[in-house]
Amino acid sequence: MRLKKFEFISPDSLKDVLQLMRKDGEKLKVIAGGTDLLVQMKDKLITPEKVVNLLNVPELSGVEKNGKGLRVGALTKHAVLESAPEVKEGWRILADAAHKVGSPQIRNLGTIGGNLCNASPAADTAPALLVLEAEAILVSQRGERRILLDSFFAGPGMTVMEKDEILKEIFLLEVPANSLGAYLKLGRRKSLDLALVSVAVLLTMDSGSGICQRARVALGAVSPVPMRAKETEKFLEGKELKESLIREAGEVAQKEFRPISDIRATAEYRREMVKVLAERAIKKSLGLPIPPTGI
Ligand SMILES: Cc1cc2nc3c(=O)[nH]c(=O)nc-3n(C[C@H](O)[C@H](O)[C@H](O)COP(=O)(O)OP(=O)(O)OC[C@H]3O[C@@H](n4cnc5c(N)ncnc54)[C@H](O)[C@@H]3O)c2cc1C
Repeated sequence: MRLKKFEFISPDSLKDVLQLMRKDGEKLKVIAGGTDLLVQMKDKLITPEKVVNLLNVPELSGVEKNGKGLRVGALTKHAVLESAPEVKEGWRILADAAHKVGSPQIRNLGTIGGNLCNASPAADTAPALLVLEAEAILVSQRGERRILLDSFFAGPGMTVMEKDEILKEIFLLEVPANSLGAYLKLGRRKSLDLALVSVAVLLTMDSGSGICQRARVALGAVSPVPMRAKETEKFLEGKELKESLIREAGEVAQKEFRPISDIRATAEYRREMVKVLAERAIKKSLGLPIPPTGI
């Protein structure tokens, strides 16, 4: 499969990238790992005149913890996220989600920025970042703006980024004390498969009473964009998470989503799996036993 001819530009500073974006934002695509973009170019779904390589731009790299939280540069690869000690210790659910992306080869190329900007409803890092209430930091020659990831996705393959903007980094606040989380992904095979349904759960528990003080739940692949399950969150908060209540929470989650049928699964199957996965992700967060689930 031959690619349509394009000009390849490889700037080595953010300033140069932003200048190109401002001048030619309509005609160009930026490329990070290329694991989504090159597939789309080969399939002729997009045929940019120019491709701007981000990999030599130092301002987009690095994972740094500071007193307030964690800064994750847009170019951070999934392989780094799944193994970086600071991510595993403080934001475990993100490391777990990154570990579920594709295969070791894909995780060594694919970046968190590419995963989010490609805006697939099934992107693995998205539900985890939604429950962590991540902020996306967007940059253009006009300046920087910060938006909650909750408002970043606009539809399948679409984000709220303007033509002259790129994603610079993700910022994550410290996770509240006594928080427990899990990410579950259901696919058709053990690896190298996109999610049919995915669920991230982050529960903040009262250590004395076992009451859930704060719940964050997000799902992937069951709506046009990865989304928080806000009714399910409300249902869990302020309650003791007994087995029967967890089962009910799965049913609340099921009512919140209207998945579609596609070549990978029917809407009915996905709806049923929302219930099963939400229930199991809550149990897994709490350290309760669950049957072997997902990939
Ligand atoms: C075989 C295979 C298996 C895969 N399995 C999974 C999987 O299990 N789970 C999953 O979630 N994904 C999967 N993917 C998709 C892909 O690997 C991920 O989405 C990856 O994170 C994309 O990152 P990238 O750096 O390669 O993005 P690229 O392909 O370089 O870019 C993707 C899109 O984002 C834009 N972009 C990239 N960086 C920026 C930025 N900083 N600012 C603005 N726009 C930007 C590009 O212009 C492009 O439109 C798979 C892909 C393949 C080929």
